[in-house]
Amino acid sequence: AESELIRAQRFESLALLAGGLSHDLRNLLQPLLLAGDTLEDYADDPRLARLGTLVRDCGRRGLEMVSSMLSFARGARRAEQVKLGALIEALNLLLQGSVPRTVKMEVDIFDPEVAFEGNHTELQQCLLNLCLNAIQAMPDGGTLRIETDVVSLPEDFFVDVEPASPGRYLRLSVIDSGEGMTPDVLQRLFEPFFTTKAAGTGLGLLSCKRIVASHGGLMRVRSQAGEGTAFHLYLPLRTEDADHPDPQAMDASLQGE
Ligand code: ADP
Repeated sequence: AESELIRAQRFESLALLAGGLSHDLRNLLQPLLLAGDTLEDYADDPRLARLGTLVRDCGRRGLEMVSSMLSFARGARRAEQVKLGALIEALNLLLQGSVPRTVKMEVDIFDPEVAFEGNHTELQQCLLNLCLNAIQAMPDGGTLRIETDVVSLPEDFFVDVEPASPGRYLRLSVIDSGEGMTPDVLQRLFEPFFTTKAAGTGLGLLSCKRIVASHGGLMRVRSQAGEGTAFHLYLPLRTEDADHPDPQAMDASLQGE
């Protein structure tokens, strides 16, 4: 599972780079294209007009390259019906051999039949990242808990400065009783290449965040040095996905966050 993780993280950082680069390049190329076009149309001197054509064509070709780079960055990302039970089962399989005897694993799935639109592989990768981090945070053993439930986010649930869209979310939690994090680590957690590990990539959580965001979801972390860490992923459920009775309009643990 570890080597697969490293491979996925490498790809992820490449995709991240390609995505960022294409975005910036597009912003550069678009005005260039426009300038070439204008020059071609309005230049009195035919040599200048030809220069305009050249600039426009190069700009256009550049934009084409950028859009193929962008589709690479997005990957052949398929939206599919993800089944909660199958997702957790796949995760369990990937974790086999990576959970030391000293770590007790607890899985609590409220309903394996819950299905929602998303990408199975990406979410599996994301949960695997979180679980391996959790295991690494428990060198002396402990408990790794995976919990799922459906919650309604209140209107005043903010993500950074943006209010989260209110509605029903599937919450996936990965909770460990490990070393936890100090406030300064907690603050830098999602920075690219930020790691406290000798052999860390510092890309795992960034990649998780990106995956969750591409599902229209959000991520929350709670951690206490010496006590443990809880990562909560909130994935939006469309009304037709959430044909479940609301367990509680809002559960209390959210309110403190
Ligand atoms: P990496 O695992 O390669 O260091 P991540 O982006 O996954 O990269 O994590 C960044 C840092 O966040 C880790 O180096 C570690 O300090 C901290 N961290 C992540 N998950 C946990 C956890 N469950 N418990 C304690 N610290 C954590």
